[in-house]
Amino acid sequence: MKVRRDVLRLALEIAKESYPNEFVALLTGKRKIIEELLFLPFDAGVSSAIIHMEMLPLGYRIYGTVHSHPSPSCKPSRADLDMFAKHGVVHIIVCYPFEWGCWGFYDKNGKEVKIEIVD
Ligand SMILES: [Zn+2]
Repeated sequence: MKVRRDVLRLALEIAKESYPNEFVALLTGKRKIIEELLFLPFDAGVSSAIIHMEMLPLGYRIYGTVHSHPSPSCKPSRADLDMFAKHGVVHIIVCYPFEWGCWGFYDKNGKEVKIEIVD
């Protein structure tokens, strides 16, 4: 799995704008490259964000999720692990202060993984 640089840049930007609330989006793309964020309606709070998967349009390949943490910890919470297990295979958490590199990549079990960043 790879991720486009622009996707990370956008995720950090939206995280900054949403702060102190979290934001959550889905990761989509093709040929194992995450190319786009897909926004569905979600309920955001300061400790969690619930995504409305029933609003997902047909025809999208969902690789996983991205969400923000308003704290400097990029570690998945208990609720995050439940979400990871349900949707896709790779998950990104971006954390405060949302600078380049303020992220963690995880598999569906919440284990940290490496993902190559491509242009
Ligand atoms: Zn989280």
